[in-house]
Amino acid sequence: MLRIAFRTSVRAGSRASTRPRSQLAQQTSVLAVRLDARGLATSAEPYDAVVIGGGPGGYVAAIKAAQLGLRTACIEKRGALGGTCLNVGCIPSKAMLNNSHIYHQTQHDLKSRGIDVEGVKLNLDQMLKAKNNSVTQLTKGIEGLFKKNKVDYIKGTGSFVSPTKIAVALNDGGSTEIEAKNVIIATGSEPMPFPGIEIDEKQIVTSTGALELQKVPEKMIVIGGGIIGLEMGSVWSRLGAKVTVVEYLGAIGGVGIDGEIGKNFQKILTKQGFDFKLNTKVVSAEKVDGKVHVKVEAAKGGKEETLEADVLLVAIGRRPVTEGLNLDKIGVQVDNKGRIVVDDAYNTSVPNIKCIGDVTFGPMLAHKAEEEGIAAVEMIKTGHGHVNYDAIPSVVYTHPEVAWVGKTEEDLKAAGVSYKIGKFPFIANSRAKTNADTEGSVKFLVESETDKVLGVHIIGPNAGEMIASAVLAIEYSASAEDIARTCHAHPTLSEAFKEAAMAAYSSPIHF
Ligand SMILES: Cc1cc2nc3c(=O)[nH]c(=O)nc-3n(C[C@H](O)[C@H](O)[C@H](O)COP(=O)(O)OP(=O)(O)OC[C@H]3O[C@@H](n4cnc5c(N)ncnc54)[C@H](O)[C@@H]3O)c2cc1C
Repeated sequence: MLRIAFRTSVRAGSRASTRPRSQLAQQTSVLAVRLDARGLATSAEPYDAVVIGGGPGGYVAAIKAAQLGLRTACIEKRGALGGTCLNVGCIPSKAMLNNSHIYHQTQHDLKSRGIDVEGVKLNLDQMLKAKNNSVTQLTKGIEGLFKKNKVDYIKGTGSFVSPTKIAVALNDGGSTEIEAKNVIIATGSEPMPFPGIEIDEKQIVTSTGALELQKVPEKMIVIGGGIIGLEMGSVWSRLGAKVTVVEYLGAIGGVGIDGEIGKNFQKILTKQGFDFKLNTKVVSAEKVDGKVHVKVEAAKGGKEETLEADVLLVAIGRRPVTEGLNLDKIGVQVDNKGRIVVDDAYNTSVPNIKCIGDVTFGPMLAHKAEEEGIAAVEMIKTGHGHVNYDAIPSVVYTHPEVAWVGKTEEDLKAAGVSYKIGKFPFIANSRAKTNADTEGSVKFLVESETDKVLGVHIIGPNAGEMIASAVLAIEYSASAEDIARTCHAHPTLSEAFKEAAMAAYSSPIHF
C-alpha cells in the first residue's frame, strides 16, 4: 500500500506557521514612488522596508517586499547586485567548474567515446571572460527585476544613525539618509582570514582571487577541505595544477557531509590527482623566491614539514560582515562568532530590525539566505513565515557532484534514532552506464519504525539536481515507500534514487 504523505508541520521549532502559503502570498498594489536624479525616493514618507545588502538574501527580500506592496529600497555597496553569490561565489565558481570539466573531459575522456579531437588547448583568458559574462548577465538581470518590481536600488554603504534612519555613503560620492519603518540586515559574509597569512589575491588567495588566476599554477595548496576549497581545487586541478589539500580535521567535505560519503568522495578526488593531508594544521605561510612556502604539522602537534606551491588558496570558512553598520550604537546584538543574533521571526534585539542570510546563524548558503529573505518579509507583512531548516540541501559541484539533505548517520547515532539504510550504486544504473559515468551511489536514511525519510546523501553525476526530490520528500514527510512506488522515467539517473528508496523499505530490483 502506498502511504500518503500529508504535509504536516515539519518545521524548525517555533518558526512554524500554520497558514497556507497562498494566504501568505497575498498581493497588494505597489505604490508609485517618485525618484530623484540618483534614483532615490523623494517622498517624505519613510520606506516600509529597507534592505541593507543586495546578495541572494537581500535582493530576494527586497523583491518579495515590493511584491507584497511594501515601499522598498535596497542598499548595496558593491556596485553590482547579487552579493557574494553572483559576483564572487556560486555563479563564477560554477562557470569555472563547468568549463574546466568540459576541457578536462575533452582531453581525457572523449577518445573512448569515439570522438577524436586534436590540438586541444586551454585559453584561460577566454574561460575567465566566459565566467565574467555569466556574472554580468545575471547581476544586470537582478537590476532589471528591481525595476520591474519597483524596488529602489541605492548604490552605497549603509550604516545606522538610529533604528529607523540609515546613512548611505553613496558610491558616486556624497551621502544621503533614508528613513525606514522596517530594516532587514543582509550584509552577508567574507572570507575568514588565516592569522599571520597575508592575502594578496594573486599568489596567496581567497576564493575571490582563485576565480581570477591569470595562469594555471603548477602546484597549488589549498588550506581547508570544505566545499569551497574542493570546488576551487577541482577547477585548477582539471586545468593542470597539482593540488594538495591541507585539512585540520580527519575528513573532507565540510560541515554536514555524511562520514561514509565523505570517505568515498576523498577516494574519488584522490584518483583524480588530489593529494590530501588530513589531521594536519598549517603553521605559517610566506612568499619565498616566487613560491609560497607553507609550514604544516600534525594537528595534534609534531614535526614541521614545509610544502612549496605556486599558489596558496586559503579556504577556511567565511565570517559575517557587520563592520561599519553601527550596530552597537543602536543596540543590535552579535554573538561570539560575530553573527547577528535573531529570534524565530528573524528579529534582532531591536524591534523593527530583522536579519537574514550569511550574517546570522545557520549554513552559509545562497538558497538558505533566499528562503529567509522571503520568510522575513512575510513576517513583516503578515506576521507569518517559515523556513524548514531540516530541508536545506547542500551541493558540492565537483565531478561527480556530492549532494545531501537532512540527517547524516553520525547525526542519527548521536541522537539515538533507530534507522535503516537503503543504497544504490550508479554502476547498476542504466543511464549512468550508457553515459560511462558510474562513480558514486545514492544513500537513504529512514526511520526504522515509520520508514520516514530522514536524510539522503548522493555522490554521483547530477547529484545536485537529483537532491531536489529528496528535499521535497523531507518537506512532505515522505516515506521511502512513497518514493519507491513513484514512477521514475527510464533510462534516467533518478532511477538510482528510486532504487535506493526501494532498498530502504524492501529491495532494489537492479542490484
Ligand atoms: C566561492 C564560493 C562559492 C559558493 N558557492 C555556493 C553555491 O554553489 N551554492 C550556495 O548556496 N552558496 C554558495 N556560496 C555561498 C553564498 O555565496 C552565500 O551563502 C550567499 O551569497 C549569502 O547571501 P547573503 O545575501 O546572505 O550575503 P552576500 O551574498 O554576502 O551579500 C551581502 C551583500 O551585502 C553587501 N553589503 C555588506 N555590507 C554593506 C553595507 N554596509 N551597505 C551596503 N551593502 C553592504 C555586500 O557588498 C554584499 O554584496 C559560495 C560562496 C563562495 C565564496
